[in-house]
Amino acid sequence: MLFDKFQEMADFQAELAGKHVKPFGAVTEELLTATTGMVQGKQVILAGTNNYLGLSYDQRCIEAAEAALKKWGTGTTGSRLANGSFAEHQALEAEMADFYGVDHAICFSTGYAATMGMTATLAGPGDVILLDGDSHSSIYSGVKLSGAEVIRFKHSDPDDLAKRLRRLGDRTGNTLIIAEGIYSMLGDVAPLQEIAAIKREYGGYLMIDEAHSMGVMGETGRGAAQAAGIEDDVDFFAGTFSKSLGGIGGFCTSRHPELEVIRFCIRAYIFTASSTPSVVASTREALRIIRAEPELRDKLWNNANRLYAGLENLGLTLGPQVSPVVAVQLADRSQAIDCWQALLNAGVYVNMVVPPATPSTNFLLRNSVSAAHTTEQIDQIIGAYAGLLDSGLLNPDQAA
Ligand code: PMP
Repeated sequence: MLFDKFQEMADFQAELAGKHVKPFGAVTEELLTATTGMVQGKQVILAGTNNYLGLSYDQRCIEAAEAALKKWGTGTTGSRLANGSFAEHQALEAEMADFYGVDHAICFSTGYAATMGMTATLAGPGDVILLDGDSHSSIYSGVKLSGAEVIRFKHSDPDDLAKRLRRLGDRTGNTLIIAEGIYSMLGDVAPLQEIAAIKREYGGYLMIDEAHSMGVMGETGRGAAQAAGIEDDVDFFAGTFSKSLGGIGGFCTSRHPELEVIRFCIRAYIFTASSTPSVVASTREALRIIRAEPELRDKLWNNANRLYAGLENLGLTLGPQVSPVVAVQLADRSQAIDCWQALLNAGVYVNMVVPPATPSTNFLLRNSVSAAHTTEQIDQIIGAYAGLLDSGLLNPDQAA
């Protein structure tokens, strides 16, 4: 039957319903600040939002959006190729190109459309895509649509990448290598210096998805490639406006002039309505703030260090390195469900992640840190995890 393949999900949903737990699609009934809201009738600290700089609730961004709403109306009612290119979109593209120090930028309606659209279009039949095995779902969707030969290399394993490139011989000239900056599930950062060195040795084109690292890493906030000092080796930077910039939309920037032609070949750009001008305006303001206020990044990393150290001290099994994504690894699904609900009861909302969010994802409680979290809030989050240990719901020895 058509529906047979959904049975496993139906069983999972039944388990959640039996426990009266709703970790997926938990509703924020009211937003109080960038880091607090009402969920299930309770005031909670929002620690699972990707709102890395707290800009989704910044008054300046809200005012920019309000002004654009009044000026341009609620929507564009068309795609960028038809009637949906407003001066706001062009201004954001110019500002993104300037931010990345390149001449070319395309803005998309979502980050998903950006990464899916670029990967689906850059490589085609006869080309090769070499992608990190833990790539985001949008990248997997794109490469499937591309028609290119798709080869996965082991997650963040430069030797495996080199081996596979070597085997390609002179086909590397038609090869697109894809990695991310910060990986969204465990918060680990790709070994970009090694990846860039391999690309220099064997050839190919490199695309980095900076969705979780733009605004978060690098001297001026351009991301993990900037932090690694390898931006000259990156052919395409992709990312999203929905995380550190607090809006919605996606981007690709490049020094290659060909991007302007490629623009007219990306189905996820051509056949979908462009972003509403108000969200473009708030994104532009958020970008201005990221550039003007590097101290936001310092605050973010102070909070990330504090949360990581606090949870490590409790003996929990975390991702391999400190980043604004701090993931606690758990033994199994049932423990994940119980701990997620207990944290919510203790006033902390986090993300529950179950396989296969990425191929190597285990059962996780994923915390994302914000520059807008106060030190007290970070300590409250740590205190809530300590409560899981006290109550016996979580035992460091049984963690994965
Ligand atoms: N790439 C990565 C690595 C992501 O984590 C995400 C979102 N989680 C996206 C792309 C898609 O971005 P958006 O949610 O803004 O569409």
